[in-house]
Amino acid sequence: MALRRSISFWLKLLIKVPLALITLLLTTYYLSPVFNFERGVPFEGASFYNPYADLPSQQIRANFHAHARAWGGLTNGKTPAKEVVQLYVDLGYDLPGISNYNMLEDPMPNAPIHLPMYEHGLNVGFVHQIVVNPSEATLLDYPFYQTRSHRQATFNRLREDDNLIMVAHPSSRAGYSYEDLAHLTGYELMEIISVQAVSPDHWDAALSTGHPVWGIANDDCHDTTDYDIGLCWNMIYVRDTSRASILRSLRQGKHFAVKGWQAKDMNELEYIRVTSEGLYTIKLAHPADSITLIADQGERVLIATGLDSLSFQIAPQHTYLRAEVFETEPWNDWTKMYFNPVIRSKDPSLSFPPPSHSVNWPLSIIHWLFIFLLQIVLVRVLIRW
Ligand SMILES: [Zn+2]
Repeated sequence: MALRRSISFWLKLLIKVPLALITLLLTTYYLSPVFNFERGVPFEGASFYNPYADLPSQQIRANFHAHARAWGGLTNGKTPAKEVVQLYVDLGYDLPGISNYNMLEDPMPNAPIHLPMYEHGLNVGFVHQIVVNPSEATLLDYPFYQTRSHRQATFNRLREDDNLIMVAHPSSRAGYSYEDLAHLTGYELMEIISVQAVSPDHWDAALSTGHPVWGIANDDCHDTTDYDIGLCWNMIYVRDTSRASILRSLRQGKHFAVKGWQAKDMNELEYIRVTSEGLYTIKLAHPADSITLIADQGERVLIATGLDSLSFQIAPQHTYLRAEVFETEPWNDWTKMYFNPVIRSKDPSLSFPPPSHSVNWPLSIIHWLFIFLLQIVLVRVLIRW
């Protein structure tokens, strides 16, 4: 009898402790209102913004998504940060970013350039963001479910004057839907390719609805023994290696993303130009296996093989145009360079659209009431059972 009572006590405790934790964590949902969204409208204007105009001559190699051992080994990163950084330095990286979950890593003495960053996201759907240059990291998140409003509220909460917000692996798990990306604002960068996820279609969904977002390639490595280092990287054109210069170039799209092997350059960009009449020209250092030009909704408007340059007249219905350069080598059959788009614009400069969402107070109050009632029910279960 005593044994049965003891088992019943521990069984109840096993259920009650997580239930109490869930009740407590539901409180985070009071932080997000329900928003009314406006669907983004395609870029328009007679002019074009070209991120590759007036390129600085210096290039740096960067990765923004690597996990080192953190949180006492609880999270999915096995190698100490200094060792991860050294592996990147050995491959020729200038900016080997460490982005642990919800915490900022100390600057590593062996990193040529340090930029603070972390991966934000503590939720079951793996809705994650990389925050570049934040003043601090936050643990706050919506852990159980995330509507579009929660995704927007996260961007709004993470925003600081001088940081950059990157959507991480949008095509992975719950991530971000195409429709989310047609409506959400408040982020500048998107991880379009990584070891974990392939998301150029999500990039096109954002671009096709007037969101000037720049593509980023990251390893998203978790265990250095899995050989997932040096597979996805970024080349950033900078005036100097100061933090201000790097952030400015990232904000202006003066970089390109690469999926390859051991950070080995397969080709080089000489220039991308666009005339005021919309004649787009890309020039590479060597003939590429293929150059693909991509416009609205991911439409492949031109595929050319064996060329080191090509020109294309952007049609009136195209609101942006971007290039992918594909190369194969015997030692590596999958190398691609993803160049940022030239974007139709009212003038050659680029201004980010203001937030296109407003708080829907009646729905917000209904949602908060729902959370409150849920918490009351859970507390009653905890007390009475
Ligand atoms: Zn992640």
